[in-house]
Amino acid sequence: MINESMYALGAAPSAIRELFAYGLARKAEIGAENVFDFSIGNPSVPAPAIVRETILELIEEDPVTLHGYSPAAGDPRVRQAVADSIRERFGVPAQASQVYMTAGAAAGLAISISAITVPGDEVIVISPYFPEYRTWIEAAGCCIVEVPAQVPSFQIDVDAVAAAIGPKTSAVIVNSPNNPVGAVYTRENLEALAAVLTAKEAELGRELYLISDEPYREITYGKEVPYIPTIYPRTIVCYSYSKSLSLPGERIGYIYVSDLMENAARVSTTVAGAGRALGYVCAPVLLQRVVQKCLYEPSDVAAYAANRELLAGGLAELGYEFVEPDGAFYLWVKALEEDAQAFSDRAKQFELLLVPSNSFGVGGWVRLSYCIARETIEKSMPAFKALKESYEA
Ligand code: PLP
Repeated sequence: MINESMYALGAAPSAIRELFAYGLARKAEIGAENVFDFSIGNPSVPAPAIVRETILELIEEDPVTLHGYSPAAGDPRVRQAVADSIRERFGVPAQASQVYMTAGAAAGLAISISAITVPGDEVIVISPYFPEYRTWIEAAGCCIVEVPAQVPSFQIDVDAVAAAIGPKTSAVIVNSPNNPVGAVYTRENLEALAAVLTAKEAELGRELYLISDEPYREITYGKEVPYIPTIYPRTIVCYSYSKSLSLPGERIGYIYVSDLMENAARVSTTVAGAGRALGYVCAPVLLQRVVQKCLYEPSDVAAYAANRELLAGGLAELGYEFVEPDGAFYLWVKALEEDAQAFSDRAKQFELLLVPSNSFGVGGWVRLSYCIARETIEKSMPAFKALKESYEA
């Protein structure tokens, strides 16, 4: 007998991947230059030179140790360096024992959710949200509770979170800068959330964790991205180098269980246990060593900033409504009809690949990923114009 829910997950590709696959087929058919693919968040900026230099240096080391297992939580030198960088950058007294290296934020989130929940618990997400949250929450035997963000600011609706917290709630997942809307939560908004969580912990006599999903921390356009452990002690940070260093295929990131929570060491050990139970032996070892050298490397956001201007400017001129993004590399655009799937399907007729918002837990919008070639954005404008006119005819 097979596990039917796992079969269902395997059989149904995510809407983003489905559209991406459609795009690949369509490009083969009519030429890549004729398809305007805004589907996937694969960074278009190359990894910085220091990544290549470090790999070339490391490759000269003894291959037996270079490619050998590290301890499950990661190479102690790397964990120490990550902890030092957290201390220096954010002023948190981070210790190496609280850092657990992971295969990207995906592994970090699956491990963290499994560490701080038991089956039957509830995990709150702010919608629209990254679709895989549901997969990881349900795989842990828990229920996802969706709390809509405030519109049009897309900040966290703190009162609605307070109303959603109950005796089974174990965590709230936040993602700032946000995929899909590009919002960056303000300090004030996060402080209000922290106050609610603290009050609810006291009221319910239960630990409430904040899981901060941070693949886009460095991809911002001038807004402050507060470090959440300094605002709410019971925070688990899931960081990734997929976007900040343009290394999504290399699968590297870390979990940082904040030293500021009173049971920090115990939670950290539980994270290690959850990683073990899920079959993570150690994060890719060569890449652990690479990121150790890149901890202070700034992200090259100039190309994304320029794309953001170009796309937002072009769509505004055509009369589209969208959320002005403060971070990440996505534009959240109002669909021209209620049914986002129907709008995305119509856009395909103009060779525009736009991800419908249904997959992010809300209707009526599409997500455009602008980590793509500038030329694609430039050439897509007549298609956006024709798409809009098709609704006016
Ligand atoms: N969380 C969010 C919000 C993302 O957008 C992504 C990837 O796009 C992930 C997590 C997973 O990232 P990683 O490649 O580090 O597993």
